[in-house]
This record gives sequence, structure tokens and C-alpha cells, in this order.
Amino acid sequence: MHYDIIIIGSGAGGSAAAYKLALAGKQVLLVEKGKPLPADGSTQDCRKVIRLGLFKSRETWLDAHNRTFMPEEYFNPGGKTKWYGAALLRFHPAEFEADSAFGYLPWPIGYAELEPFYQEAETLLGVHVFAVEADLKALNHRLLQQHSGWQSLPLPLALHPSIAQDEQEARHFDGFASTKNLKADAEVSLLQKAAALPNLTVITGQPVANLLGDADQPARLAGVMLGDGRFFSAQTIVLAAGAMHSPRLLLDYLNRSGLASTLMSAQTAGRYFKRHILTAMLAFSPGRKTDRLRKTVFWLHPEFAHSSVQPLGFSADALSALFPAWMPHRLASWLSQFAYGFFLQTEDGSHPGNKISVSTYPHHNTLPKLDYDPQRILVNTHEHSRMVAGFRKALQRAGCICLTKAIPLAGTAHACGTLVTGNDPKQSVVDSHGKVHGMENLYVADGSILPRSSRVNPALTIYAWGLRLGSHLLNTGEAAI
Ligand SMILES: Cc1cc2nc3c(=O)[nH]c(=O)nc-3n(C[C@H](O)[C@H](O)[C@H](O)COP(=O)(O)OP(=O)(O)OC[C@H]3O[C@@H](n4cnc5c(N)ncnc54)[C@H](O)[C@@H]3O)c2cc1C
Repeated sequence: MHYDIIIIGSGAGGSAAAYKLALAGKQVLLVEKGKPLPADGSTQDCRKVIRLGLFKSRETWLDAHNRTFMPEEYFNPGGKTKWYGAALLRFHPAEFEADSAFGYLPWPIGYAELEPFYQEAETLLGVHVFAVEADLKALNHRLLQQHSGWQSLPLPLALHPSIAQDEQEARHFDGFASTKNLKADAEVSLLQKAAALPNLTVITGQPVANLLGDADQPARLAGVMLGDGRFFSAQTIVLAAGAMHSPRLLLDYLNRSGLASTLMSAQTAGRYFKRHILTAMLAFSPGRKTDRLRKTVFWLHPEFAHSSVQPLGFSADALSALFPAWMPHRLASWLSQFAYGFFLQTEDGSHPGNKISVSTYPHHNTLPKLDYDPQRILVNTHEHSRMVAGFRKALQRAGCICLTKAIPLAGTAHACGTLVTGNDPKQSVVDSHGKVHGMENLYVADGSILPRSSRVNPALTIYAWGLRLGSHLLNTGEAAI
């Protein structure tokens, strides 16, 4: 079976590239490791989704100290976008530049290069802003009245305009998967739009186990081997398995083919892992909170230029899961009716020591390892701590009692980096178009390529990169048989 392009993984980057290439008539094979999610309502059941974590990956990883943990990864068509909070923000133009004081790498392209693809992604996903609901309006007013530097802005969301009228969907979109397609995710907004095309083949429930090279030319890939042993060949292969998984497939291939010792970019593969430094905050104030969407504005502060704050889209049932484990469930459930949740994020430094290492995939003789040490990025953790303290103080002045919880390493929702884009093959893995330096026909479409992840969430930028990659393959004719 020969295709123009094989795409590995159907998250934000993979689906965007698949959409672009399939609509242009290319023969595309998309291989997705996960099976489709059930449509029986269980993906919005707080107990199953949050307390039991039934839909999360069961993959065990090692941390820097060889302790095991399970990262917050999801294997299903649409990838993590099925579960995301749909806050789709553009990076600021300055966030494409290097910032040595904060340890940030530069992008090899500027904002202007990505802008048309940001626009295309926003249109495809129907990104728009919603009216601010009553509880948040009152709280935001109390925050802004203090003139403490916090600025609030409308939060662009990829949600259907009618979602606010559907209580179940409106209260369960952030961290849950929609059962009525009222959240625009990679599957609903991209894959389903191309699904009827005869030139797009989607295989689900099977991982790509190996990249396979051309026997005479290891820098040229011949195709991929699936977990069940099937082989498919293509002119071009696109890695889009996500920042935790694409580097493992690549490193595995580089090691098997001997390219690990000759390809300059091999030294950087897996490095510069980023995940945002994250804290969840609960703010309690008198009065039961009745807002449904909640996540309608976000906050910036000029003193914390690499940080932002968003409300969580969680209602009381989901918020109660954030309480300390020692607290009786009934008490947590009752208290959470008076709470608003917030998600505080700071861009972490791009450090080569923060890295993913390879294991034999998917037959884990050894476990995959995520070596991420906050000590390597102290300047960023320092900004994060000051920002958390500043926001807590502002909430307290607004009459709230706050509870904070640092999100541990397993919180890989915003995982990125690991196959970073750049012009120098000694310090990056893919070029400015996503092609792996030194490889003839291997590209990367997912969040792995992000050298900087900005102060806001990454998915819109990953969609835009995937669309741009698809365009590039069409323009250069590299996807032709
Ligand atoms: C709870 C939650 C909330 C979030 N909220 C937001 C938000 O509000 N805004 C925002 O911008 N971002 C948000 N994110 C992050 C966003 O979802 C990710 O940044 C984005 O989905 C990453 O896209 P990706 O293409 O890099 O990878 P993924 O979306 O992770 O897709 C990778 C895909 O590859 C598949 N795969 C892996 N290995 C293989 C293999 N060997 N073979 C075949 N397939 C494979 C996986 O199953 C998966 O489907 C959130 C994430 C989570 C989990």
C-alpha cells in the first residue's frame, strides 16, 4: 500500500496537516494509536473522567529520579484536543524571538509567517469570544478596581455558540470530551470535514511501532510498520504523535539505522522539553456560583510578562476533585459550589537537559523517561511563584479565600519542544518548514517543534503549524508520488 503521505497521530498538528493535504487531493494515510471515544456520555462523567481517569493513557514513565508516573496523555482520534479547554490564543509576535535572560530559544520564522495559518485555523475551528457571565463579571470588576496591574482580556474559545444553552455541555467542556460536537476539536473540525474524501484513509486503534528506512539510504524513509505488523509506504512521512511520543519514534529510528551518530540533529532530538509551569488555584467567596462556561476572560500582568491566568471551565463537580485528598468528599463537594477555579501558567525555559529519552517502542523493555528538573529553569519558576503570589493577593483583596495546588510533572497537557524547529542543525531537529535536518522525507507537524511555548496555551499555534506544513508539502510538490 503506497501513499503520498503517511501522518502518524491525529491531534492538533496531525489533523491540520491531514486536512490540508487530503482536501488538495493527496493520497493520505493517517494512523492513530487510539480508538474513537464512546458517545454514551461517559466522557462527561466527572467520576469516570476526573476521579478515575478512565480515558487517560496508562503508559508508565520514569522521571529524572527514576520514579514511575503516568503523564496526562490521551490516545484517541483528535488526541488531547478532545479533552482540551478550547482556549485558542495566538502567541505574541515577541514570543517568536529568543530571550536569553529567560532561556528562551528563537523560532526560525516570525509571527507574520504564521499569521495566515492562525487565521485559517481560527476560521476552521470557529474561534470566538463569549459574553462574560455574572459571577465572573463581578469578580473581574473587583480585581480590576484594585489597579494592581492585572489586565483582563476576552478569551477566544473554540466552542459552538449554542453551548451556553446546554447546561451539561457548557459545564463539561474543559477536561471533558463533548458528546454533541459542541466543542471544536481536531476530530470534529478537521478530520470529520475530510472524512468522506476517498483519498483519506484513517486507521485507528493501531500505533505506528517503527519508522522504516530505505535499505540503501537510511536518511530516506520507506514507510511505517504498525503495531500489528502491517507495513505501509509513502513518499513523505509526517510525525504528529505529540511532543511526548514523536521524539521516541524518531530516536528509535536514528538508533536502529546508525544515524544517531552521524546526523547532527540527532543530538538535539528529545531535548528542550517544555510543559509550562502550572498552578491550579481555587478561590472561595460568598454566594453559590452559577456561571456555566466560566472560561470567558484571561488575565495578564506587565510584571509577569511570560505568564497568564485563565479561569478553569470547571463547575462544582469537577472543582471538588482539586481539593486535598484528606478532605471528606461531601465537604469538598459542598465547598466547591462557592468556588471559582483558575489555571496559572508561565512559560518554562528551553533547557537542553530537560529531555525525553528513547525506549524500545512500543515493547517497553525499558520505560520511557522524562528528565525535567525545575532547578534548570529557576528564573522561570521564580517568575511563576511571584505571579501566583500576586494573583492570590489580588483575589484575597477581592474578598476570596484561596487554595493553590502546583501541577506535578504528570500534568503534560501542554507538553511541547523535544523536536524543536531552528535553522542550525546542531541546535534544532527540524528546519523552518518542519523537515528533519538531514532526513530526506521526514517532517514533524505536532507540538514537538515549538522552541518557545509562550505565556498562553499552545494548541492554536500547533494547528497553524500543521496547516502551514501541509501547504508547504503541496507547494514544494514533495508530497507527490
Ligand atoms: C485537559 C487538557 C486541557 C487543555 N486545554 C487547552 C486549551 O484550552 N488550549 C490549548 O491551546 N491547549 C490546551 N491543551 C493542550 C492541547 O490539547 C495540546 O497542546 C495539543 O492537543 C497538542 O497537539 P499535538 O498534535 O502536538 O499532540 P496530541 O493532541 O497529543 O496528538 C497526538 C496524537 O498522536 C497519537 N499517537 C501517539 N503515539 C502514536 C503512535 N505511535 N502511532 C500513532 N499515533 C500515535 C495520540 O494518540 C494522539 O492522538 C489541553 C490539553 C489537555 C489534556
